[in-house]
Amino acid sequence: MTSANSATAARPRLVLGNWKMHGNLADNARLLSQLHAVAAADGTLSARCAIGVCVPFPYLAQVAAALADSPVSWGAQDVSVHEQGAYTGEVSGTMLRDFGCRWALVGHSERRMYHGESDQLVAEKAQAALKAGLTPVVCVGETLQDREAGNTLAVIERQLAPVLALGAESLGKMVLAYEPVWAIGTGLTATPEQAQEVHSAIRVALSGLGAPQVQVLYGGSVKAANAATLFTMPDIDGALVGGASLVAEEFWRIAAAETATV
Ligand code: PEP
Repeated sequence: MTSANSATAARPRLVLGNWKMHGNLADNARLLSQLHAVAAADGTLSARCAIGVCVPFPYLAQVAAALADSPVSWGAQDVSVHEQGAYTGEVSGTMLRDFGCRWALVGHSERRMYHGESDQLVAEKAQAALKAGLTPVVCVGETLQDREAGNTLAVIERQLAPVLALGAESLGKMVLAYEPVWAIGTGLTATPEQAQEVHSAIRVALSGLGAPQVQVLYGGSVKAANAATLFTMPDIDGALVGGASLVAEEFWRIAAAETATV
């Protein structure tokens, strides 16, 4: 994978929230009603920036009911490679579709780290999501150790290889997210230039496969205060937002910051 600059192309903007394992019925109800309120107060934003939230499985019904008449879409944080059967604890893509999910995060670094998910499994999950009619959001990112050893691009290339092998048609229905592990939940953000270097390399790889229009999000301590600068980078098409997506106003301001530079 090279890191040559790639041409800026008009790609739709996307900001997705990852609630992680946070929330309860009461807190979610408050957050969802605040999301509704900020969406109503800024009626044009959603036309310029697609917005969604990826929530814990048990709250999908609550979120689906609350967001059904809003411009905010929703999804899950994982999906099984299996369609159905004796797979205790797993949740299939068709089950997620039953709850109106549009998105399924796959390969989040917390799943790679704490659940031993391999690059190959992540690609299989992406494929399972596609089969169910979901948009997989495939997350990749290097650790601090990888970065300090100068291995960032090699790690991203390795993580993406089985996903890229799925081919242009499948890639065209996915979203990718570059999330440096050292920036997730730490308050440390990659500089716009550090992020752009990786996004550009991913864009070159995608372009080489005939899929240059795939949206590539940046994730890692994105806040309203740093979103606009990140979004000025030509290959950053939006954000995957963890902690800040739990505060409706802040989350909305991230989406608004993005569109301010379009
Ligand atoms: C994430 O969970 O994908 C994430 C980017 O988290 P945070 O924004 O809190 O760093």
